[in-house]
Amino acid sequence: MSLYSTLMEPGVIGGERMFRKLMLQVSVLASVIHIAFAVLFFTYDIVPLAIVNIFSVLLYMTVFVLIIRRRLIVISWLAVVVEIVVHATLAVYLLGWESGFHFYAMMIPPVMMVSPFKESMIKVPMVAGMMVLYVLIDHELRGAQPVYLLKESLLNSLYYFNLVLVLISMVFLSGLYYRLVVENAARLQQLATTDALTGLHNRRCVQELAEREIKNHRRHGLPLSVLMCDLDNFKRVNDLFGHLAGDRVLRNFSQVLNQQVRAGDLVARWGGEEFLVLLPSTPLAEAQAVAERVRQHIEQAPVTMADSEIYTTTTIGISELALEGVSLTMGNLAGDCFEQLVARADDALYQGKANGRNCIMLEPQAACEH
Ligand code: GH3
Ligand code: MG
Ligand code: MG
Repeated sequence: MSLYSTLMEPGVIGGERMFRKLMLQVSVLASVIHIAFAVLFFTYDIVPLAIVNIFSVLLYMTVFVLIIRRRLIVISWLAVVVEIVVHATLAVYLLGWESGFHFYAMMIPPVMMVSPFKESMIKVPMVAGMMVLYVLIDHELRGAQPVYLLKESLLNSLYYFNLVLVLISMVFLSGLYYRLVVENAARLQQLATTDALTGLHNRRCVQELAEREIKNHRRHGLPLSVLMCDLDNFKRVNDLFGHLAGDRVLRNFSQVLNQQVRAGDLVARWGGEEFLVLLPSTPLAEAQAVAERVRQHIEQAPVTMADSEIYTTTTIGISELALEGVSLTMGNLAGDCFEQLVARADDALYQGKANGRNCIMLEPQAACEH
């Protein structure tokens, strides 16, 4: 394991990529600013500081090349930290606290804290050390007489330039980390709600969405139906053609389902080869028509493998939301919830399996349509 991977936090998706990008941007920007400062200090005859600026430019250029080549990233990062601290301290020592170069050192602890480096043993002591160092620099240099006495106007210009640049950098960094957090949250949300094989909603997701839909539909007295689809003899597909072929059949089925439903309908992978379709604003008779379309499509759409075609069929159980106080097929079902709706669709499905498969079954009476 490299030093880099040992030091980087593994949990943050995109954290390392973002960190490298940031390092590249910093090294380009820092090179340009240090060239400008080198010219300024040569002009004002502050030669030691001008020379340090030239070394800084060389360092940032080296860092840029190393990051591009993805080599010595941790060392480069540490070199940047040391450069900022040493350079800021020297500038404040030579030009005085009022030059505002200490602001750059002030940026390091918070940036270090949110950097994607592992906390254990390294991050916390380094951050604490940087804070102590900053206080020490403040204590030693704030009231000290500068080596070079600059004109009031130049000192003021330097002060505000440094202050504004540091403020902009802080805002930019905060924005970057905010974006990272938002992107990670969206990605995690997607991972938590999507089935990896088919890209459909997973069981947890459809459960949440369905409860919401059911509440709305019950409030407005609208019909809502559920299809529970199970591939017939799917185990045999795996046994005969292999697990990968089985996966292809599952993906194919998920596509057929997506094609056969309307935009507002919800298609989810309920379990292994079981799929649930939630049909908002759809009464039982319409749901039956949708189910029949799905059944026929899957029957007629084989999955083509290199040397064979895999034909599959599906059995579908259908249930409809019982509205409060309304007597539907099962009598008064006040408080009908998603769980009960699924249970009734499931009962119908198993009835369909018992009746020979490749059929559609309405709740609760056994009414095989095929
Ligand atoms: P039935 O008609 O009664 O539904 O029979 P079946 O063979 O479809 O049902 P059974 O429950 O016996 O078998 C389901 C099979 O689905 C067994 C399991 O290995 C397979 N399966 C579940 N999830 C996946 C998956 O993600 N990929 C593949 N290839 N197979 C899966
Ligand atoms: Mg099955
Ligand atoms: Mg099954």
